[in-house]
Amino acid sequence: MSRETSKPIRIAIDGPAGAGKSTIAKHLSKKLGVVYIDTGAMYRTVALFTIRKGIDPQDRKSVVKALDEIEVSISYSPEDQTQQIFLNGENVSGLIRTEEVSACASVTSAYAEVRSKMTQLQQKLAESMSVVMDGRDIGTVVLPKAEVKIFLTADRNARAKRRFLELKEKGVEADLEEIERDMKERDERDAGRECAPLKQAEDAVLLDTSNLSIEEVVEEIEKIMKDKGY
Ligand code: C5P
Repeated sequence: MSRETSKPIRIAIDGPAGAGKSTIAKHLSKKLGVVYIDTGAMYRTVALFTIRKGIDPQDRKSVVKALDEIEVSISYSPEDQTQQIFLNGENVSGLIRTEEVSACASVTSAYAEVRSKMTQLQQKLAESMSVVMDGRDIGTVVLPKAEVKIFLTADRNARAKRRFLELKEKGVEADLEEIERDMKERDERDAGRECAPLKQAEDAVLLDTSNLSIEEVVEEIEKIMKDKGY
């Protein structure tokens, strides 16, 4: 039975970079037959636009002004629930995973105006369907009434190693120490910003994935859902 014919559910997964949010969210969405919404991709898409325009990410005024020219939309493959993301109608899913975009998104996502635009889009998407949504502020700001809230974490070294192996698999040269340094900087920026900082919602369940396999984490979340009657 598909989720949409049973009780709708919104699952919020938050946590720092490299904690395994997207991997876990994708597995869960497939298993449950619900849509996966990757909110980081939305912030990355805004960043891509500003990079293309040559806007300095630190120049808040120009970034905010550019928002009027940005329309972010998403679509799903019904077979595997994967998300495709569009910038003004152009599919940019394959262009937003670069280090340049990561670094820019980390800065521009701190602006309240950027967050407000993305939050509205995210809330609208979750209004009409069951979702697994991952990000930094889903359980606290975007979907404060989500039925299930998970805060995924892992020690920074484990997270950096995962990112390093991911890049290596893609044939991208990377330096483990540099990845760890960058992660630290981004974590601090996400957690320290004024607007919708990265933090565990009071009613979220904390899961440390440092020593858990993907299957074990998914099983843990399913247990949590079962306890809540889903
Ligand atoms: O999760 P991902 O690394 O793709 O996110 C890219 C950037 O977008 C993060 O560095 C973070 O600053 C920002 N982000 C955010 N709020 C979210 C999702 C992502 O601020 N809900």
